[in-house]
Amino acid sequence: RAQFAVKRAKATGRTELYTPRDFHRARRAFTIETALRRAIEADRLRLHFQPVVELGTGRLTGFEALARWEDNGINMSPAEFIPVAEQSGLIVPLGRWVLDAALATLKGWDARAGLTQTLGVAVNVSALQMARDDVAAMVASSLAAHGLDGRRLTLELTESSIVQDPDGASRTMHDLKALDTVLALDDFGTGYSSLAYLQRLPLDCLKIDRSFVTDMLANRDNLAIVRAVLSLAQALGLRTTAEGVETPELARMLAALGCTHAQGYVYAPALPADEALSFAQSWSSLA
Ligand code: C2E
Ligand code: MG
Ligand code: MG
Ligand code: MG
Repeated sequence: RAQFAVKRAKATGRTELYTPRDFHRARRAFTIETALRRAIEADRLRLHFQPVVELGTGRLTGFEALARWEDNGINMSPAEFIPVAEQSGLIVPLGRWVLDAALATLKGWDARAGLTQTLGVAVNVSALQMARDDVAAMVASSLAAHGLDGRRLTLELTESSIVQDPDGASRTMHDLKALDTVLALDDFGTGYSSLAYLQRLPLDCLKIDRSFVTDMLANRDNLAIVRAVLSLAQALGLRTTAEGVETPELARMLAALGCTHAQGYVYAPALPADEALSFAQSWSSLA
């Protein structure tokens, strides 16, 4: 028992014992962290790419790059390893790798035939990256290294990056806009950002979290939330991407409500790079 050291709840001044369950959770996180560090160093993470479609025109505007970890029998969801990466600080080297790999893939696609449209790519940027890393310098050097225009890169920020340090986030966002990148607020509605930030910060796009979108035709509360977010975004001149669009009916409804972009299984799940390129090629031939 003594080996389960005490943890103190700072706010309450209470002292609690680690339960065996806490112990297992901590040990699992540590195991994941060790393996993840090795996977990053050995370049064993991969990116998958999920299409983003402009609702008004049906044009494919680009892809969101999503980290995948499948090696040595590990096939772990980002929902599990990203939080471990955030807690351990590994998100900083991971995020740097994701940015560079996403831009390298985009550059590779440019050289391939059969694409009539200019594609963009979106990468997720975690709060710790915004706070600790010199994100703007990293983005600038990666864009330059791949010879890509900043307009083709969307950075998906979280509400937590803004809430934790609004002034710091604002400065970083202005630096990123100076590189012409597109700034999106990811999972909008699930965090705690104040509406006042939306007009103060140099944002281009709100991504409406899939927890509101997927069932909005069956759930009146979620429909009301989506409508409210769309009218707020329109009033502020922001684009909107609905996540988790699983049916054509939903895509039509979102278009009718003024949502500008959609992403979800109705088009495709996140695909390996070569399949994403084929998707883009066949999408152009349909358009
Ligand atoms: P996210 O940024 O909100 O990404 C969208 C997630 O929704 C992806 O899950 C995607 O596969 C899933 N999704 C897309 N369309 C649909 C749909 O129609 N229905 C349903 N049910 N799900 C859909 P994924 O790839 O498991 O990623 C989960 C989260 O992990 C991401 O959420 C993001 O927050 C984080 N993440 C993934 N890759 C990275 C990364 O490179 N860096 C950082 N910081 N976070 C990442
Ligand atoms: Mg995202
Ligand atoms: Mg999202
Ligand atoms: Mg989401």
